[in-house]
Amino acid sequence: MKKKDFTQLICNKCGWIHMGVSLSFAENEVKEFNFYYDKLKPEDQVTLYGGEKSHLSHYLFCQRCGSLFTKMRRIKKSDTVPIGCTITSILDPKKASDDK
Ligand SMILES: [Zn+2]
Repeated sequence: MKKKDFTQLICNKCGWIHMGVSLSFAENEVKEFNFYYDKLKPEDQVTLYGGEKSHLSHYLFCQRCGSLFTKMRRIKKSDTVPIGCTITSILDPKKASDDK
């Protein structure tokens, strides 16, 4: 995936910054993580990941306030990205349909 495939999105409710991804990217990330997860020992699954596999729902909501991905907008030059914040992935509303 190239840089142009990612978008910078901001939550309209809380202002948190996210990296917008396509549905196919999110689905592939879930598949690859779960392939790795399934090879771990059960105790490592719990210790490292709380015993939870990845799921597409992890890409649907703002990590900070829980707003749905459709509430995101592209950032503007006037928006400032806080230094040191964690940037998580979320479905890009404009790329949420199946783009395979
Ligand atoms: Zn939010």
